[in-house]
Amino acid sequence: MSDPACDSTHYSPSAASDTSSSCAVSRVSAVATHPLAKRIIAGERRALAQGITLIESTRADHKSQADILLTQLLPQTGGAVRIGVSGTPGVGKSTFIEVLGLFLVGLGKRVAVLAVDPSSVRTGGSILGDKTRMEGLACHPDAFIRPSPSGGTLGGVARRTRESLLLCEAAGFDVVIVETVGVGQSEVAVAGMSDIFLLMLAPAAGDELQGMKRGVMELADLVIVNKADGDFRRHAERSAGEYRAALHLMRPKSPHWSARVLLVSALEERGIEEVWAVVQEHRAALGSSGEREAQRVLQAKDWMWREVVDAVETVLRTDVEVAPEVAQVEWLVLNGELLPTRAAQHILQTFCSLSGKIAGCIPE
Ligand code: GDP
Repeated sequence: MSDPACDSTHYSPSAASDTSSSCAVSRVSAVATHPLAKRIIAGERRALAQGITLIESTRADHKSQADILLTQLLPQTGGAVRIGVSGTPGVGKSTFIEVLGLFLVGLGKRVAVLAVDPSSVRTGGSILGDKTRMEGLACHPDAFIRPSPSGGTLGGVARRTRESLLLCEAAGFDVVIVETVGVGQSEVAVAGMSDIFLLMLAPAAGDELQGMKRGVMELADLVIVNKADGDFRRHAERSAGEYRAALHLMRPKSPHWSARVLLVSALEERGIEEVWAVVQEHRAALGSSGEREAQRVLQAKDWMWREVVDAVETVLRTDVEVAPEVAQVEWLVLNGELLPTRAAQHILQTFCSLSGKIAGCIPE
């Protein structure tokens, strides 16, 4: 990571004032009293990095501080173009994002790059987060690059990236790019936090196209066939035609937008302007129809439910009284001795008794 502010700053919560916790739901407050809030709104990169460190912390006091900070900053969020980028390792994501980012800062925009890296979840290692990536962009005063938070579940990593995205918006970034690798469920998470989802593909032979996950194609608003240069150029053109035909057979993601396919050479910096033009066209189409706002509302609702489900699962897997029983039930399912439906009912009943709820809340 080339941004020293990202690396070395660890926020001390001692300076923060309001640490009270309450069961009552508090609404968004317009008063930015948290010590980091005003500095983030003023666009201070160091404060932004400190805020993200707070969000990524697993300490309970840091979590409550992060909640306060985010709640206070919420009125300042929502202003950025949120771009999701996915593609398999080696397809050219970091080369492309750096070139796109530099193009955008050249237009006078402030650009933040965040990541959701599923490889950081289990091992703490990272496919995306190596420190030498996007050095040119990382050094630019109008850019901010933050690698994927590591550890926890994919849901946890995605939540921290979503919250970091909000912080970047409060800090006045015009464009936030969220990157992920095209493996596992991380594309779904990233598509669920962006306005437009870019799928990067390498020039491929027809049989590779056959093997491609249809679900990932269905998420794409724009398919970018990268490496359309040199010997790859002809392959890339043919692949683009095949991707167009495949997309044509799918139901459009929206009544106002059908996925496009563009040829790009990130290495030769060709096709970048066209990508930005499509992003703007998509923004105009979904903006004027009201679909973008509706999509963001839906994303917020999905996020809320994801949080509920993740929290329930965490309790069930970690509570000292319940976790051993859950593990035993799971074992019975694995051995074919208990139906998954019966097992689920049993686990939910246990959860309800744990949370002091009436037993009748579980469907029979
Ligand atoms: P990532 O793993 O998806 O982030 O991929 P990288 O950006 O690290 O690129 C992987 C390799 O592909 C590097 O050697 C790049 O130089 C190369 N590469 C990236 N974009 C292009 C391109 O447009 N054309 C060609 N020929 N090579 C590229």
